[in-house]
Amino acid sequence: MYLFEGEEHAALRSQVRRFAREHIAPHAAEWEENEEFPVELYRAAAEAGVIGIGYPTEVGGGGGDVTHVLVASEEMVLAGRSVGTAVGLGSHGIAIPPILRFGTDEQKKRFAAPVVEGKKIAALAITEPGGGSDVASLATRAERKGDHYVVNGAKTFITSGCRADIVTTAVRTGGEGHAGVSIIVVERGTPGFEVSRKLKKTGWWASDTAELAFQDCRVPVANLIGAENAGFPILMANFVPERLMLAGQCVAIAELAYRESVSYARERRAFGRTLGGFQVIRHKLADMATRIAAARALTGEVAVRAQRGELTAASLAAMAKNAASDACSWVVDQAVQIHGGYGYMREVLVERLFRDARLYPIGGGTREIMNEIIAKTEGYA
Ligand SMILES: Cc1cc2nc3c(=O)[nH]c(=O)nc-3n(C[C@H](O)[C@H](O)[C@H](O)COP(=O)(O)OP(=O)(O)OC[C@H]3O[C@@H](n4cnc5c(N)ncnc54)[C@H](O)[C@@H]3O)c2cc1C
Repeated sequence: MYLFEGEEHAALRSQVRRFAREHIAPHAAEWEENEEFPVELYRAAAEAGVIGIGYPTEVGGGGGDVTHVLVASEEMVLAGRSVGTAVGLGSHGIAIPPILRFGTDEQKKRFAAPVVEGKKIAALAITEPGGGSDVASLATRAERKGDHYVVNGAKTFITSGCRADIVTTAVRTGGEGHAGVSIIVVERGTPGFEVSRKLKKTGWWASDTAELAFQDCRVPVANLIGAENAGFPILMANFVPERLMLAGQCVAIAELAYRESVSYARERRAFGRTLGGFQVIRHKLADMATRIAAARALTGEVAVRAQRGELTAASLAAMAKNAASDACSWVVDQAVQIHGGYGYMREVLVERLFRDARLYPIGGGTREIMNEIIAKTEGYA
């Protein structure tokens, strides 16, 4: 549990746990192997009040803040046991906040509300085949022609991109650099917009990851979020909660791998005793628990500070993401080791968690980019 948790968080945990145990866990392995979960799950999750956690009631959400989203997403992983499903089902978490924070009332109603209701799927498209870290250099061009933008370019590694109905897309409407970036919503079915590829990846199998193509794709100017050429700060503001969520997922994955390892160490026998009977295994488990506790403490603290609107939130979120992804990478590796040969088998959960964990030092801004953000805030150069 996070230190900030109160009764409301406890209630949310049991609400999400119930949903994930009933609707995800029984199918987790099958959906991961099939590299897809059913689209009907969005509607079921919305009806169970799970999709709306952290979103305003005006768009059909249940209210709450980043701390509520953090505990809900942890329970989704712990009880659902499919990281791929949790991240696919949660892709709106990065796609609709820019609309809710910077969009008009009409845009919130048209784009965000159907997503919160589980009727539509949302994705966020920033990364391009030519690069993801250097966001200010993105090359997908949107030329204004009358009431439309004509979009040309490509995006890649887009979570839920294959099935998304709305794609919050970063485009270049102006000159070079961050001052030429805008955000537009591209809707599925718009001529010139297509999913060029479904990508195969190391982990997160149950979530789809797409390469998207835009070829003379005409997007109404009414789909511009915020002002033209003012998209970069919108993206930067979005990265802070995204990185906190990713840190929270790392804590959850590590916690799940740890729990699996404790159970296994209690049952598995070697040399006439359980694995837990060997001090080296007990100490491994103790180190796992310690690193998870430290990652959780930092992530929880940063969530509270971000919620208070503290100025250093971006740098702190970067620290939390790095600390939690380091902890997670180490813990899942130890979990595989404790499981021995079984830890290398596809039918065993920790094998999958080991693969899932590899994303976190890369996605949502790499480990190196997080350090650049921290360095900039601290003023080293
Ligand atoms: C499974 C998955 C899901 C994703 N989902 C989404 C999504 O939904 N939407 C989206 O827009 N993107 C998504 N991404 C993309 C992700 O955010 C990018 O992969 C990430 O930002 C890195 O960009 P890149 O892959 O282009 O690497 P690059 O930017 O090419 O970086 C390559 C390497 O160079 C290093 N590097 C780059 N610049 C510097 C520097 N200044 N200093 C030091 N080192 C540097 C990087 O740290 C990295 O190690 C996803 C990626 C994956 C794998």
